[in-house]
Amino acid sequence: MTASDFTPALDRAHAHARDWIASLGTRQVTPRRGGATIRNALGELPDTPTPAATVIDDLAAVVEPGLGAHGSGRFFGFVFGGGQPAGVAADWLVSAWDQNTGVLAAAPGAAEVERAAGRWLVDLLGLPATSSVGFTTGATTANLTGVLVGRDQLLRRAGGDPARGLAGGPRIRVLAGEDVHTSVLLALRYAGLPQPEVVAVDDQGRVRTDALEASLADAPSTPTLLLLQAGDLHSGASDPFAELIPIAHRHGAWVHVDGAFGLWQAASPSLRHLAAGVELADSWATDAHKTLNVPYDCGVVIVRDPAAHRAAMSIDAPYFAGFGDEFGNPYDFVPELSRRARGLPVWATLRAMGRTGVVDLIDRLAARAHEFAAGIRGIPGAQILNDVVFTQVTLAFEDDERTRAITRAILAEGDVWMSGSVWRGRAVLRISVSNWQTSTADVERGLAAIRRAVALTSTP
Ligand SMILES: *Cc1c(COP(=O)(O)O)cnc(C)c1O
Repeated sequence: MTASDFTPALDRAHAHARDWIASLGTRQVTPRRGGATIRNALGELPDTPTPAATVIDDLAAVVEPGLGAHGSGRFFGFVFGGGQPAGVAADWLVSAWDQNTGVLAAAPGAAEVERAAGRWLVDLLGLPATSSVGFTTGATTANLTGVLVGRDQLLRRAGGDPARGLAGGPRIRVLAGEDVHTSVLLALRYAGLPQPEVVAVDDQGRVRTDALEASLADAPSTPTLLLLQAGDLHSGASDPFAELIPIAHRHGAWVHVDGAFGLWQAASPSLRHLAAGVELADSWATDAHKTLNVPYDCGVVIVRDPAAHRAAMSIDAPYFAGFGDEFGNPYDFVPELSRRARGLPVWATLRAMGRTGVVDLIDRLAARAHEFAAGIRGIPGAQILNDVVFTQVTLAFEDDERTRAITRAILAEGDVWMSGSVWRGRAVLRISVSNWQTSTADVERGLAAIRRAVALTSTP
């Protein structure tokens, strides 16, 4: 095969990519076609080959109507970010270079860029400089890794042997705040650990110090995994780490923090107080594809003790011998062995923004959330339920039925995306400002969409 075989397909992909990105400013954010239409258009497996460039054109034609504008500044659903130019372009190179980044000696260029990106992240987030870093598919797998490292260490400290598995070994107790993210519960299932004993939280979803003290005093000598959170999905609030973590450590607990989007509070001088003390934990999970706005998929696991990290996640095989260095191989820190160089877009994104650009991005997202809150206060019947401190605004209307009707009307119109949820037993409309492109004008459009939905659903 010659390089020219790639060119027509890559050129078509480039053209489609540019068209797509150019459309983000004006297109409706909701997909124009549903799954069934797309499914029918895809057809059956053909018997004969098709030229690569034609395949790319067909793919774009079929798929494009079924795409959501997640990269638009008017997407406020879930906690989705969008790719920035340096990261998206670096991601293309990741595919073209196609480096299997598991083994250091096989891909030293990719592995060293990831190491540099990891050091930059740890520095920006104010975490211990000697921590180890792994690039995962997302925060779910980053949480899984943190849980696995904690499990491994707790077992060893209690005289157990991780090689023998959990059965017959010391019991591990798991504690988590009432508002723990479901991906953490999933991580516990993957890890063969029980679902957590719930620790009471305050009205913003923050674990209460007195409740944690009571839970720990309950079984003072049981090895304990404590799962805390930076960034509650509905309030944006972080647990009071400076109070909680020293207490947990006095009881010998391993503390893992799910900071999928909220860990980034620590990277902004004006927001750092929200996550004060987060650096005291044993392990952290965050996403690069949310607040940092690196393209999918990219999560990050960070562990204070690199030896503990490797002890839990490393593998050994004769054909890998001698291919790492004193810091190991990339596969020592993540669940995957073969994988793409997903840390490269992180490096490119950080390099493009610089330290001040990162701070500016985070502060800007929070500022847009405050603009939303100010506008919502002027909408009759709307009530903001959270203290808006970061990027999340959670609101409700007169009753659950009306909140759901307004949410449906906003999505049916499709100019902005905001999703429903349930918080504290109430149906809510949740706005997450997580896209680097969101401007004050986009916030205005979001507010106008809410006002239209309110008018449309009001019964005189
Ligand atoms: C998004 C999110 C996760 C899961 O992250 P993925 O990247 O989707 O795997 C975990 N915790 C919180 C708080 C999140 O917002």
